[in-house]
Amino acid sequence: NLQDKLDRAFKVLKGQGNITEINVAETMKEIRKALLDADVNYKTAKSFTDEVRTKALGQNVLSSVSPGQLLTKIMNDELTELMGGSVTELEITKSPTIILIAGLNGAGKTTFSGKLANFLRENKGKKPLLVAGDVYRPAAIDQLEVLGKQVDVPVYVDRNSEDPIAIAVAGVAHAKQNGNNVVIIDTAGRLAIDEALMTEITAVKQATQPHEILFVVDSMTGQDAVNTAKAFNDRLDFTGVVLTKLDGDTRGGAALSIKSVVNKPIKFIGTGEKMEALDVFHPDRMASRILGMGDVVSLVERAQQQFDEKQAAELQKKIRKNKFDFNDFKSQIGQIKKMGNMKDLMGMIPGVGKAIKDIEIEDDAFKPIEAIIDSMTPYERENPDVIDPKRRLRIAKGSGTNIDEVNKLMKQFGDMRKVMKQMSNPGMMAKMMRNMP
Ligand code: GDP
Ligand code: MG
Repeated sequence: NLQDKLDRAFKVLKGQGNITEINVAETMKEIRKALLDADVNYKTAKSFTDEVRTKALGQNVLSSVSPGQLLTKIMNDELTELMGGSVTELEITKSPTIILIAGLNGAGKTTFSGKLANFLRENKGKKPLLVAGDVYRPAAIDQLEVLGKQVDVPVYVDRNSEDPIAIAVAGVAHAKQNGNNVVIIDTAGRLAIDEALMTEITAVKQATQPHEILFVVDSMTGQDAVNTAKAFNDRLDFTGVVLTKLDGDTRGGAALSIKSVVNKPIKFIGTGEKMEALDVFHPDRMASRILGMGDVVSLVERAQQQFDEKQAAELQKKIRKNKFDFNDFKSQIGQIKKMGNMKDLMGMIPGVGKAIKDIEIEDDAFKPIEAIIDSMTPYERENPDVIDPKRRLRIAKGSGTNIDEVNKLMKQFGDMRKVMKQMSNPGMMAKMMRNMP
């Protein structure tokens, strides 16, 4: 299954210190294969892995997580984004709000109609009306009536009519007369997409002007689900997707592909035959499902936090021993850039935030600073005190800056170090407190 495949893909990364061009390329190839096997279509899988690769490269791997776990986290975030990021609610403001249900035979339209009526009545305090628009099979009308009774929602039927358009229109009128504020129109499907079906459903749309058109699709049909979604969307321009039969171990790959091919939000998922087996679609949960690694994601998040704390503690120790060097300085700049806020970062160093709150560092000021630090030798970075005028000149040349800039940085760094040392020295703090009036 996908889990095993991803495990295998991540093995390539195991034991590697950080994510590099080479190990990520190998892993992405495996992941792409795994996604294809999970019903994600080729184009989606490719653009997805490309995006993840870009995000993954250059990421530091934390001490307590493996590159594979970190990559999983990145993938999870990216998948969530691809599937819409957050929950998209139904638009139910008009009274009555008209909801048209469309899809192939057996997709789960009638079942979903019942579930939706139940959901809106129970959870949203609405007064829905179901409309039986599948006139071709008498059993279909019976089925909707049974479901309506089950969820305690009225069903509009006209057994004498063979005109689904007229029935839909009459259903809406019936709702207005009877104070129903939502109308759910169940429609007939076909075994495959055909012109007659499309013409009929388009006519129902025209006649009823629905506020929502929900396309219902069986998630077990894999790539066919994507093609069907595209065909329906081209004709109907639907407002949302309902993925059914996601109970059991159905793979969620179709969700990803459908969203990226038709670019319409998935609004609900069906997870069983019972009327309660309906969930609002959560992109983040589906991402975890596709990856099958919900636990890993939270583990990575936790590790990230611990890493930050650990780093802050180590930094504090270094400051106390006056060992804060240019490596620390540079990694702090990296952090600042990541967080986008100097003050936040300084707030992480206990006792220091206040002292340096007046030191201004602008965003574009980082570039020459980083260049200067990069031009130092590792020995110089660890031992800033050895950087004499001769070395400064060399560093200025190597970094494409000038001696004034290097001198300025050295001075700033020295000041910063002094302040940090003072503020983090408990003895000093006590002395200062005693001297206060
Ligand atoms: P329609 O032809 O599109 O109206 O499809 P139906 O609503 O009649 O459903 C076809 C079959 O799929 C029925 O046996 C339903 O019980 C079943 N079904 C519908 N939704 C789900 C679901 O989310 N999970 C499962 N396991 N079965 C479902
Ligand atoms: Mg049906």
